[in-house]
Amino acid sequence: MIRSTVAAIAMLCWASSAMAQADDDGEESRWSIAIHGGAGTIKRDKITPEQDKSIRAALGEALKAGSKVLSDGGSAIDAVTATIMILENDPNFNAGKGAVFTWEKTNELDSSIMDGSDLTAGAVAGINGTKNPILLARAVKDHSPHVMLSGAGANQFSREQGLEQVTPDYYATPYRLQQIEDVLAKKVSVADVDYKFGTVGAVAMDQNGHMAAGTSTGGMTGKRWGRIGDSPIIGAGTYADDRSCAISATGSGEYFIRLGVAHEICARIRMRFPEAIREAQRAVPKDADGNDSYVVHGSEFQLSDAEIQQIADDVIAELGALGGDGGIIYATPWGQAGYSFNTAGMYRGKATSEGDMSVAIYGDE
Ligand code: ASP
Repeated sequence: MIRSTVAAIAMLCWASSAMAQADDDGEESRWSIAIHGGAGTIKRDKITPEQDKSIRAALGEALKAGSKVLSDGGSAIDAVTATIMILENDPNFNAGKGAVFTWEKTNELDSSIMDGSDLTAGAVAGINGTKNPILLARAVKDHSPHVMLSGAGANQFSREQGLEQVTPDYYATPYRLQQIEDVLAKKVSVADVDYKFGTVGAVAMDQNGHMAAGTSTGGMTGKRWGRIGDSPIIGAGTYADDRSCAISATGSGEYFIRLGVAHEICARIRMRFPEAIREAQRAVPKDADGNDSYVVHGSEFQLSDAEIQQIADDVIAELGALGGDGGIIYATPWGQAGYSFNTAGMYRGKATSEGDMSVAIYGDE
């Protein structure tokens, strides 16, 4: 909506001076982080009190680790890496230990990471043998000329990089074995079972205003033919750009790929930002000579919490309209962190330098 009232201009000027003041007061020390551990039909009657407790504790521990990196002045990319490693090591989640099984009862892990400060990225698909797939994605980003490696070649790169290796049985848990047995016994399509949930991801803004995002998953229970989801695909399951946002997704990967969800949200934020400045400029009253009496400067302007949420919700609504389910976490260069999902629940958490820290599971929390 075009801002056309004097009140809107007054508010804009007030917001500008409030932000400038925040700068003087040490705005550069702000940081934020959001994490997820998967989305799906996560309802109270499906989760035991013990599971509820253990998942909240795991999310809290991961959030604390990421927050510590950020509050100590570390980079967003290091915070995302540290956070995801903790979630991969926790058998509650479908990543690293606890990853779901393929139709052949193997594990094929997908992971990706992106640094919003220089748009560098690394991703791996269909790998096994590496204890922490996020470290392999990070190694692809930092130590290879490529963005994405897959299968045997990626496994070889992991060994050459000296990353910790595990035997195939490391990933297995009784819970995930039971799920693949169910799928194989019923011969149902992977798209019809709700057994994939538990993908993990993190997004962050560090004290220098840099953004990063990462995602790690075992994919979908019973997947076959080398199926690859959105999680290792830069632009679908993961994206980070200092000019707009950092996104990590979880849900029915095929739909996230088709919409390019992570990049789509960042692009809409990036495009909306100059548009919002232009709108504000159009609302500035003219002086006696017919010129604008005030120049709205980009550095004094940001998208509001509601605007960011709306953009994320719009893209998730489009995902739903296509038939996809799941959600995303976001962080912005203005310090916002949050979620959008169209499922009953999403394992999630967020923390900021302002002292907010929360974890949640169900949609109504
Ligand atoms: N997005 C993942 C995939 O499609 C699964 C999930 O997030 O639950 O592989």
